[in-house]
Amino acid sequence: MAKFNTIKDLDAAGKVVFVRADLNVPFKDGKVTDTTRIDRFVPTVKALTDKGAKVIIASHFGRPKGQVVPEMSLGQIVADVEKALGQKVVFVDDCIGAKVEAAIKAMKNGDVIMLENLRFYAEEEKNDADFAAKLAKDVDIYVNDAFSCAHRAHASTEGMAKLKPNAAGLLMQAELEALDAALGNPVRPVAAIVGGAKVSTKLDLLGNLVAKVDKLIIGGGMANTFLFAKGIDVGNSLCEKEMADTAREIMKKAEAAKCEIILPVDVVVAKEFAENAENKTVDVNAVPADMMILDIGPKSVAEINKKLAECKTVIWNGPVGAFEIKPFNKATFAIAEEVAALTAKGLKSIGGGGDTVSALKKAGVAEKLSYLSAAGGAFLEWMEGKILPGVKVLEK
Ligand code: AMP
Repeated sequence: MAKFNTIKDLDAAGKVVFVRADLNVPFKDGKVTDTTRIDRFVPTVKALTDKGAKVIIASHFGRPKGQVVPEMSLGQIVADVEKALGQKVVFVDDCIGAKVEAAIKAMKNGDVIMLENLRFYAEEEKNDADFAAKLAKDVDIYVNDAFSCAHRAHASTEGMAKLKPNAAGLLMQAELEALDAALGNPVRPVAAIVGGAKVSTKLDLLGNLVAKVDKLIIGGGMANTFLFAKGIDVGNSLCEKEMADTAREIMKKAEAAKCEIILPVDVVVAKEFAENAENKTVDVNAVPADMMILDIGPKSVAEINKKLAECKTVIWNGPVGAFEIKPFNKATFAIAEEVAALTAKGLKSIGGGGDTVSALKKAGVAEKLSYLSAAGGAFLEWMEGKILPGVKVLEK
């Protein structure tokens, strides 16, 4: 793994440390509805204040597109940050300029201030050099703790990191170490479980994975396209027929790379995409013309679980069925439970992506995996083998 500075390496006493966080928390009716992002970020701030640093917290919040939008003010979540931190946080209603300068001047060692939404300035997303310099003014050290924003080269995630000594925050560090353990330098054999609706949105990901993993388990709607590409009639299922050639190319690439592809052997079918829709389990070769595949079947789950038991590492993105509607969550939950059980016995398991986190939480195993990434887009781009600018800039 590329080397980067961590908080541990920093001589931060008395220094002004700018921490880029992802505090883009779910927010409804004036309330934070899920504090996970705040809770996971707090240890980084504490580690810095414990060292006697003066900490500046900065983040984006929503998509104000370069305008000041009061509904997207970070001032609304300061109380939640204070509560999680257990200390006073001074809010500054700007992220650059005189107000920030004055607030920094007034800070004592161990104090924390929080800046207004970075995206109130269009220059943030444009990675404007002037704006980055303004953010970096009076800052001694830059820390990035927002892996989930690292796929974007913005002023606060990339531009200003180049201007100051920098380091990865604890969350960023955990994220990078987990990802490295999954695909960078994994203990083999390593399996990937890839599900979700469409092949077309995960082409780069599949292409990258076949070159890196020993077993590629494909489920969800995207498995239908692979089954179709193999000449199987998938009836009324979600299926990207125009992607059949691409699916065949991926299978060829896998064969050349000695990556075993595991597709469903049985499936759960229904006439409509609806909760509790009347359904039955059939062999993949026997999908009725007027029915659609909404989950993989028990034989497929047993086969997948057997393969997982042979592995030392697994990385998971995408549900293997329409997990939001019962009973088509069964296979996703059953595999989730098995991954959790195997993890207790030493399997290294890493999951990530919005729907995957939601599915694993619903299955009640989120805490039982080795690592669950809270990053959506950044996790996917990383699984695609792309270089993340916010990570690249931290490399020594
Ligand atoms: P993604 O965002 O690509 O990970 O896709 C997640 C979505 O895929 C979820 O909303 C699932 O309901 C959906 N999905 C999974 N399996 C199927 C299936 N067999 N048919 C239709 N949708 C599915």
